[in-house]
Amino acid sequence: MTEKLYLTDSYMKEFEAEVTKVTDGKYAVLDKTAFYAISGGQPNDTGKLIVNGNELNVVFVKAFGEDVSHEIEGGEIKEGDNVKGILDWGKRHKLMRMHSSAHILAAVIYKELGSLITGGQLGEEKSRMDFNVTDFDRELLTAFEEKANAIVGQTIPITVDFLPYEEAMAMPEIFRLKNVLPKNLKELRIVKMGDFDAQADGGTHVKNTSEVGEIKITKLENKGAENRRIVWVLGD
Ligand SMILES: [Zn+2]
Repeated sequence: MTEKLYLTDSYMKEFEAEVTKVTDGKYAVLDKTAFYAISGGQPNDTGKLIVNGNELNVVFVKAFGEDVSHEIEGGEIKEGDNVKGILDWGKRHKLMRMHSSAHILAAVIYKELGSLITGGQLGEEKSRMDFNVTDFDRELLTAFEEKANAIVGQTIPITVDFLPYEEAMAMPEIFRLKNVLPKNLKELRIVKMGDFDAQADGGTHVKNTSEVGEIKITKLENKGAENRRIVWVLGD
């Protein structure tokens, strides 16, 4: 089992851990990790593992059950090794800003239209989300963009809470993915933006809304009868 350090501290850039399992000489499971494992539309982190003085590249990270597997290139690693992990922070921080901007946009659109998310993918340069609506137009999107940037301008703190499963399930508004409800877990992780928004979520986020930067919706696409896609980028 791997402790996911990023669930409670998304600003951890370096950490120390022990290798608990190695498969095929290159897939290393650690007892704990700050490398984000690909999921929920957020790409995995990349970076380095320092192992016995050697610098190895972490090229892919994915969870298998309770274990987080790190695909390693450039050297040897074995069970029992003590390692130091160093994240590619530029990439991670960009994805944190993108993930928080996605929550702001999803919250604005949910409040305005009651729409849920039907798909999405975060990227370092641009991101996209699909919503179950029939009638987005440019004018509406401009209004959403303005509302989202007003939230950015308010510097609202972004915090993480853990709620008992039953308590979380009594708040349907925190589940924004259409037709996706979490399995029965002991507790659910909730990402909150003050009184503005709360969403059940496993991703990494910046510490307040102003760190997101300016949100610019660059594209609106029709992806079917009740499916509209927005694409957006962030300013520096
Ligand atoms: Zn999220």
